[in-house]
Amino acid sequence: MQDTSFEQLDDLYQEVILDHYRSPRNQGEIPNPNVSSRGFNPFCGDEVILGLKLDANSKVESIGFKGQGCSISQASASILTELVKGKSLEEAQELSQLLRRLMKGQELSDEEVERLGAMEALQGVRQFPIRIKCALLAWATLDDGIEEYRAETGKGKEADSSPPD
Ligand code: ZN
Repeated sequence: MQDTSFEQLDDLYQEVILDHYRSPRNQGEIPNPNVSSRGFNPFCGDEVILGLKLDANSKVESIGFKGQGCSISQASASILTELVKGKSLEEAQELSQLLRRLMKGQELSDEEVERLGAMEALQGVRQFPIRIKCALLAWATLDDGIEEYRAETGKGKEADSSPPD
């Protein structure tokens, strides 16, 4: 599709997004995922399929995604996989909430921005409301997958009781 909003992004942001779009991290399916979900953004035709494998401590041991669509949606999915790897499901959801706040233009602390890592590069799209859905698609897909996992297993909420590594 015509990606005019992308062209208006800051050069540095464009570079980060294009890097992830052209060289997606953790691309592919994970065998026997504990958490899996698919998201679709009808406004843009973006699709993201996520799979997460959890270790004995309910942390994300491996994560993979497949998808198609615009550079913003696919870069966001790629960055997500890097950020969420090694995290608990609670931590993953916290990141998702932080990103939503960033997209709404809410003030984040330096520490919070740092936790979002390369996702910061996607904040420029908030000037283009229709593209916010592209940026959030992978994260909404992750949230759906986690909710479904909890509903099915009743697990994933007791991370506070697990001992530190
Ligand atoms: Zn899109």
